[in-house]
Amino acid sequence: MTVNNAVIRPAPRSVTILGSTGSIGQNTVDLIGRCPDSFLVEALTANSRVELLAAQAKKLRARLAVVADASRYEDLKDALAGTGIEAAAGPDAVSEAADRPADWVMAAIVGAAGLRPTLMAARRGAVVALANKECLICAGDLFIQEIRRHGATLLPVDSEHSAIFQVFDFDQPDKVLRIILTASGGPFRNMSREALHSVSPAEAIAHPNWSMGAKISVDSATMMNKGLEIIEAYHLFPVLQDQIDTLVHPQSVVHSLVEYVDGSILAQLGTPDMRTPIAFALGWPDRMAAPSPRLRLEDVGTLTFEPPDPERFPALRLARQALQTGGSAPTVLNAANEVAVHSFLESRIGFLDITGIVEDTLAQTTSASLNTLDDVHAADDDARAVARALVAGYKAPVVH
Ligand code: NAD
Ligand code: MG
Repeated sequence: MTVNNAVIRPAPRSVTILGSTGSIGQNTVDLIGRCPDSFLVEALTANSRVELLAAQAKKLRARLAVVADASRYEDLKDALAGTGIEAAAGPDAVSEAADRPADWVMAAIVGAAGLRPTLMAARRGAVVALANKECLICAGDLFIQEIRRHGATLLPVDSEHSAIFQVFDFDQPDKVLRIILTASGGPFRNMSREALHSVSPAEAIAHPNWSMGAKISVDSATMMNKGLEIIEAYHLFPVLQDQIDTLVHPQSVVHSLVEYVDGSILAQLGTPDMRTPIAFALGWPDRMAAPSPRLRLEDVGTLTFEPPDPERFPALRLARQALQTGGSAPTVLNAANEVAVHSFLESRIGFLDITGIVEDTLAQTTSASLNTLDDVHAADDDARAVARALVAGYKAPVVH
């Protein structure tokens, strides 16, 4: 990973948030709002929540606010009337916002939709704080090549990868035996496969430890999130596929670990509050204060760890398989998963059908090599078409 190219300017740091109205976006706005003198906000973007976007833009005195849904342009303009804040709309305007000269860009759009604007920021050599893991899954090697080619800096925001970033000895990668991603196990950790058939979207998005957007919450419940994170870790850190392990750790206190050849295991700990890893990236290379609840291990008492159950949660196997196959297989995995999660949230398929659709989509597509971003988009489009056709053939189970 390229981490040493950034030209670090003294405060205030100019920042842009792609996806400011989401869970990661709102936490980033919260942190910036607590130290207004340290940041200048260039642009904020959202998909459709115009009122929240306008309120954030006013609060942070942003120069530009962009809504991806072009039909909301007039609403955004009205909401910003008289403030001097520029308004723009449409997917191209989101990418143009990423192209504006902010030193630091939070990539917090959910899904492959975040790829284009995140690349825009990478191509002008920005410091990219990457929450949007899907763009690294669907365009892995090409994405990293673009980061390197343009001298951009990539900082992980995902809590596990932030943890590893903080304890990984990049000067001696050959002394690392393995990295261990921890997983909470999600809301259905102890549920039988039989019971998993009929869980509802509301149950799936009620994560026991973390408060997150709907898509990643469902990914946590299927454990596809951990599968995506294995692929994410593979691209972010100089390790081989079989050096990436996972452990279920229901307390979500140990955010991930790195094991060295001498037997030492280093970990980063904290309460499950995304403002800690976001603050790490926002302040980097310095540390800034975050209001996350303090971790008091004496109150936690017991920390437990167990291997994930591959029978009830096949997503880990599917993700490893896609990573091993390479080429467009991770792109297909990600696209099929996005379609399936969306369909589950609309109650069109059942919970276990999510991984069923991902598996069937992988089986029905041949992995192609990805040489250009057009190849990525083509593989993504094709996989979505296959997955949608599969969804059409499913019947949602009755949810209790
Ligand atoms: P969210 O659904 O709460 O927010 C998504 C944001 O993206 C919103 O601002 C939305 O307006 C915007 N958006 C959605 N579709 C868009 C489109 N087509 N064009 C432009 N903007 C669009 O999601 P989240 O939970 O904040 O997650 C964001 C990303 O961060 C995801 O990739 C997720 O995997 C990752 N992540 C989230 C967490 C977390 O705690 N929430 C933790 C680790 C990683
Ligand atoms: Mg994570």
